[in-house]
Amino acid sequence: QTKYIRKPEWLKTKINTNESYRKLKNLMRDNRLNTVCEEARCPNIYECWSERKTATFMILGDTCTRGCRFCAVKTGLPNELDWGEPKRVADSVDVMGLKHVVVTAVARDDLNDGGAAVFAETVRSIRKQNPGSTIEILPSDMKGDYESLHTLMNSEPDIFNHNIETVRRLTKRVRAKATYDRSLQLLKRVKEIAPNTPTKSSIMVGLGETKEEIIEAMDDLLAHDVNIMTIGQYLQPTKKHLRVERYYHPDEFQELKEIALEKGFTHCESGPLVRSSYHADEQVNSTSAQ
Ligand code: SF4
Ligand code: SF4
Repeated sequence: QTKYIRKPEWLKTKINTNESYRKLKNLMRDNRLNTVCEEARCPNIYECWSERKTATFMILGDTCTRGCRFCAVKTGLPNELDWGEPKRVADSVDVMGLKHVVVTAVARDDLNDGGAAVFAETVRSIRKQNPGSTIEILPSDMKGDYESLHTLMNSEPDIFNHNIETVRRLTKRVRAKATYDRSLQLLKRVKEIAPNTPTKSSIMVGLGETKEEIIEAMDDLLAHDVNIMTIGQYLQPTKKHLRVERYYHPDEFQELKEIALEKGFTHCESGPLVRSSYHADEQVNSTSAQ
């Protein structure tokens, strides 16, 4: 029988909504855009959209060719590529007055370039229309295809983010088709292409990893020149997804943050509700590319 652990108090948040927030939700519907903020029912949505002026767009459709066991995005055969999407994202960034934009995408393993061309076009459209906003990209591993990676990097994002999601031992269980080493190699390659672009990666804790394994993941990321790390609590999106093995206490997150900074990350966000894009606006100048 499956055992569920009760959610601790610090994770019980109420989503704060108001009129301007509802308007933004409608804007997304009208523009046929998807955001991770909504898809993942992120508890930070009000703070990010209304106060910090940050949002995470999920482009290339709402259907992923992979099925990671922690992720709520639906799996299947995606629709045709939508070349109108880059402009609609740029328009929404404008209307929302975003200062920091995160662009992520479902994994499009059905396409030769993994969707890199539309992805890069989205970055360029946002930049053109919103020259004052910073742009972070969070792509899949692009099947390890470096040509696609170059296409992406040619759009000159301000931050390159790619998540290893979990420790080495659990990668096979947690992520579909991706491998721990391929993700690390990708991050390293970005630094070779664009030494001054900060790179970033994230793990979720609570999937059964040990503290030693988390520390090993930190060392692996640093060995691949990653500058920024984020650590958050895994939350099970539905009963069909992997269950939570453990809830970490806020003090434990704080301890992990201190370890990460001591080891050499220029920036680390670590906390129960931290998501890959949380407080990303503060990380733009976190290069350590010397
Ligand atoms: Fe969106 Fe990320 Fe903010 Fe959550 S933390 S609301 S996913 S930008
Ligand atoms: Fe979700 Fe990304 Fe995995 Fe697709 S590749 S299932 S969007 S985490």
